[in-house]
Amino acid sequence: MTNKLLVSLKVLIIQLNPQIGQIDQTIKRTWSILDKVTKSSTYVKPDIILFPEFALTGYSFHSRKDILPHVTGKDEGPSFQLAKSISEKFQCYTIIGYPEKADEQKLYNSALVMNPQGKRIFNYRKTFLYDTEEKWNCEENSEGFQVFPMNFPKRAKLPDEDTFERDVTLKTSIGICMDLSPYKFKAPFNHFEFATFCVDNDVELVLCPMAWLSSTSVTDKQIQNNVLLLESAKNKIALSLKEQGLPLIGSQGEYQFKIGDSQRTSPVPSDDCTGEYKYMDVPDMSNVNYWILRFFPFLYYKRRSQWFRDTSLVENILTRSKMPRDHEYYKNGKHKEEAMGVLNSKGVTKDALLEKTFLGASLRKPWKFEGKNVVLAMANRCGTEDGTTIFAGSSGVYKFNGREVEDPKGSEDSPLDSLNESVELLGNLGKGLEGAILRDVQFEVLR
Ligand code: GLN
Repeated sequence: MTNKLLVSLKVLIIQLNPQIGQIDQTIKRTWSILDKVTKSSTYVKPDIILFPEFALTGYSFHSRKDILPHVTGKDEGPSFQLAKSISEKFQCYTIIGYPEKADEQKLYNSALVMNPQGKRIFNYRKTFLYDTEEKWNCEENSEGFQVFPMNFPKRAKLPDEDTFERDVTLKTSIGICMDLSPYKFKAPFNHFEFATFCVDNDVELVLCPMAWLSSTSVTDKQIQNNVLLLESAKNKIALSLKEQGLPLIGSQGEYQFKIGDSQRTSPVPSDDCTGEYKYMDVPDMSNVNYWILRFFPFLYYKRRSQWFRDTSLVENILTRSKMPRDHEYYKNGKHKEEAMGVLNSKGVTKDALLEKTFLGASLRKPWKFEGKNVVLAMANRCGTEDGTTIFAGSSGVYKFNGREVEDPKGSEDSPLDSLNESVELLGNLGKGLEGAILRDVQFEVLR
C-alpha cells in the first residue's frame, strides 16, 4: 500500500556576488549574511543551505591558466571547508558550486553535498556546459544527470498525525545552470532534457546552483569579437550600472533578506517582462518565467490528454535517449547497459518503458507527474563580471503541485509561465542584491 507522507523542509538559499580573486571577502560576507539570518525574528533552523554555481571563486574564467589557481579536489579547499563548517554549525546539508580538479588532471564544474555531520555525501558534475566552460576545457559529466538520496530525519508525517516525527529519504537531483538549457543550445527546445530526466526518475527535490545571465549581458559573438562594438556595449552597461548607483562589479554587501516570511512572488505574464537591469531588489521575472518553462514536464498542460491517443508519443518516447547523442556519456559504453536494462532476458520490453516520458506524457498516463509534488530550489549569483556579463540573481523556491488547474478565462491554452497555477512561487530574491531567502516548504511524497 502506498502512503501519502507530508514533508516539511526548510530551505535556505544564499545569493552572492563573488568576484575572481576575492575568496576571503566572499567568505566573510557569507558569514555575515548567515549571522543576520539567524538573528531574524522569523528564523527557523534550515535543513538545506544552497549556494550558487562557483559560489566563492567567481565564474568567468577565460583560460585553463586562469582557472588553475582556483580548482580543488572534492574533499579540500575553501568551498569544501566553508560547506563543512556551515553544515556542522547548522546541522544541515550544504550544497555549494566550485571548480573541481579530479585525479587525472580533468577539470569539472561541480557541486558538493555536505551532510549535517560535515561529511561529503555526493559530488555532482555539470553535465551540459556553457560557452564559458569551454574556454578552460571543462569536462562533461560522463554519468549524465544523476539521482541521489538525501535523508531527513523527523521531517515527515502521515496526514492525520500532529507532528513531523517520521524520517524521509528524498530522491534528489542537482542541475547546474546550463543543465536546464537545451544541450549546447542546439538540441530541440522541447526535449527538456533535465526536467524530463527528473520526471522519468520520480525526483522529489531539485537543487540548482547557478550563474545564470541576465539578458542585458553581452553574449553575441559578433559584438564580443569586434573591438568597437564591444567598447560601446561595455559603455552602455557601465552607464546603466552608474544610473543604479552601482560600481562596475555590481552590488556587494547591501543585503536583502526574505527569512521565513510568507511573501510569495507575484506572477507576471511573459509578455509583460522586459528583462531590464533595474530595481535590484525585484526578481528578474523574464528569467523566472523562462526557468518555469524549462520545467514544462512538471507543469499542467491541457493538451497532453490529446497527445495520449497519438501514436507518435510512443515513437518519441522510444527514440529519446538519456543524453544527447554527441554527449560524453556515450563514450564509455555505459549506455549499452542502460539500453539492456529496459529489456528482460527474452528481449521483451519491461514495465520501465512505461515510466519514460516525452513532454511530460508517458505511455501509462497523459501527464506522468499528475498528483505528485516536486520542490525546486535555485541559488543564482548576482553582480557582474568583465563589464559584460550580468548575472540575474532572483534565487527562489518553487513547488510544482501536480494539480490539474483551471486555465485563465478566455485562454485556449494553459499558460507556460508563472501564471500557470500548477507552479507555486514561494519566494524570490531580487536580481541584483546579495542576501538570503528561507522557506518552509510543505509537500507530499508517496511511500
Ligand atoms: N543557459 C545559461 C545562461 O544563459 C547558462 C549559464 C551557465 O551555465 N552558467 O545564463
